[in-house]
Amino acid sequence: MSTFDLVVIGSGPSGRRAAIQAAKLGRTALVIEKHKKVGGVSVHTGTIPSKTMRETVLNLSGWRERGFYGRAYRVKQDISAADIQSRMEKTLEHEVDVLEHQFARNGVKTMRGDAAFRSAHEVEVTLPDGEVRVVTGGAILIAVGTHPFRPDYVPFNGENVFDSDEIVAIPKLPRSLAVIGAGVIGVEYATIFSALEVQVTLIEPRATFLDFVDKELMEEFIHELRDRNVALRLGAEVTKIEFDAQGRPVCRIATGRDVTSEVLLFAAGRMGATEGLNLAAAGLTSDHRGRITVDPKTLQTAVPHIYAAGDVIGFPSLASTSMEQGRLAACHAFGLQPPPPPEFFPYGIYSVPEISTVGMSEEDVRKRGIPYECGIARFRETSRGHIMGLQTGMMKMIFSKKTRRLLGVHIVGEGATELVHIGQAVLNLKGTIDYFMDNTFNYPTLAEAYKIAALDAWNRAFGPAAAPVV
Ligand SMILES: Cc1cc2nc3c(=O)[nH]c(=O)nc-3n(C[C@H](O)[C@H](O)[C@H](O)COP(=O)(O)OP(=O)(O)OC[C@H]3O[C@@H](n4cnc5c(N)ncnc54)[C@H](O)[C@@H]3O)c2cc1C
Repeated sequence: MSTFDLVVIGSGPSGRRAAIQAAKLGRTALVIEKHKKVGGVSVHTGTIPSKTMRETVLNLSGWRERGFYGRAYRVKQDISAADIQSRMEKTLEHEVDVLEHQFARNGVKTMRGDAAFRSAHEVEVTLPDGEVRVVTGGAILIAVGTHPFRPDYVPFNGENVFDSDEIVAIPKLPRSLAVIGAGVIGVEYATIFSALEVQVTLIEPRATFLDFVDKELMEEFIHELRDRNVALRLGAEVTKIEFDAQGRPVCRIATGRDVTSEVLLFAAGRMGATEGLNLAAAGLTSDHRGRITVDPKTLQTAVPHIYAAGDVIGFPSLASTSMEQGRLAACHAFGLQPPPPPEFFPYGIYSVPEISTVGMSEEDVRKRGIPYECGIARFRETSRGHIMGLQTGMMKMIFSKKTRRLLGVHIVGEGATELVHIGQAVLNLKGTIDYFMDNTFNYPTLAEAYKIAALDAWNRAFGPAAAPVV
């Protein structure tokens, strides 16, 4: 069979969700994947490997227990790259297995090969043995994701200069690491390696980083990184990368203060993987970063039956949002119009400590001129925090003084990426401070921080002592 209702190029989060949604609607779907296993960047080099590495590092290093037993505490002495790899292999195998089973159960066909457009309805697939097959799709979804941006001035060698897809397979843990690019990926890896006592230098040309995160939260985060001896080199532009006499990479910085490290990770940007797709044959183009423009409501490209979803369409480039985009694209292609996605979705940054945020930051609220109040809770104020030995961790909530509505929740610390969903639910259901005041929370939990932060805001802005809103 070579004709399908939906042909999906790429088996990452957006592609797999779209294919399964199409199958659930009774349509035939084919997923073409050039990698030898399905799952995409998310399963093989991005989300899952980096989070597995983080979990392994935190477990083996005894990180979560150090509040009690001191900084020298270790579950395992001499953690090696092999320790990390073995857990990663098991996790990834399981992920692929679950995914293959999902495809099989739903009757989604898969084909291994490199796909390119032959026309607006036809896709040519070059199989691993060189044979070329042509498949036809009533609808086609481009879900090819991204690959790391590899500028010419970076001497990638797979030995001590890596990109963000290669670092998960690092053969030996270094004593020092320089990371170029303080975006989400750079910050995650910098802090994960730092939790292993690797001496980390984070290099970023701009004076600030993770600017979408609430400033007060970032101050807390930066304080913690400095306390752990992570060297932050902000406003530092790398002009050249050379190797010293011992073969170590040296980043030459415009301001003159060079950075030498055993290993260098370049994590500054990714490009849409559209270069080999022959988009022109389908009447499509991509921008200078390989991305495809779509109608954000329907995920349609300029050619109505061709959709694009996931990282290849740019912001927000998360596995979580990619899955939803894939589902929406398939629904639209087959005549279903699901309601528009809720206004606010969470960001999770799996750094050490982790950060998660949903809704408006204090800076956003100020820009919009909304009268507001903030409530702060520190995890060390919660009984659960005492039990866990937490000395850091903070939650900040922002409420409208006029409507009492929750406007944003920002968390740094243990469990942030899970905790944020309580705030997300209240936010998208347009809840107010009263939800947190009136409801009982399990005790002892870190979620109690919601109650503490809400009380903090209430005492100042809504309680008997509060000044009237003008
Ligand atoms: C280090 C790192 C950490 C991350 N951490 C998180 C996180 O914690 N949370 C989160 O939500 N997101 C995270 N992300 C982002 C997340 O991985 C992406 O948003 C997500 O993978 C994008 O999914 P996608 O559907 O666009 O496809 P991708 O996962 O990018 O997969 C695309 C697939 O298409 C295939 N392909 C490409 N071209 C062709 C072709 N011509 N023919 C056939 N197949 C092709 C590729 O081989 C690949 O398998 C992280 C990313 C990285 C790099």
